[in-house]
Amino acid sequence: MAVCEHYRLRVTLHLDDELDAGEQRLVQAHLETCAPCRNAFKRERLFREAIRRRRPLHVAPDDLRAWVASLVDSRRMASPAPGSRHRPDLPSSISDNTAVAQS
Ligand SMILES: [Zn+2]
Repeated sequence: MAVCEHYRLRVTLHLDDELDAGEQRLVQAHLETCAPCRNAFKRERLFREAIRRRRPLHVAPDDLRAWVASLVDSRRMASPAPGSRHRPDLPSSISDNTAVAQS
């Protein structure tokens, strides 16, 4: 059973194509020989497909998207010089804590 636990922990990584080629082959070989793990893999894949079919769950309104884009642009313009620890675009209480945490 410990072998199956090992592979079941990798099912999500396998589905996300996050395993290296060797691990992918090992997981695939196990799924071909182990019906319980193969069923778990199929359930996980079907669950993911069901979620994908329902996308998008929420779509941000255009004005919110524009506001976020302008924030990103303004922060890029105000970004500190390389090597600087000061963050001028954050409230002082946050940037003070950040400076301490980075020390
Ligand atoms: Zn198994």
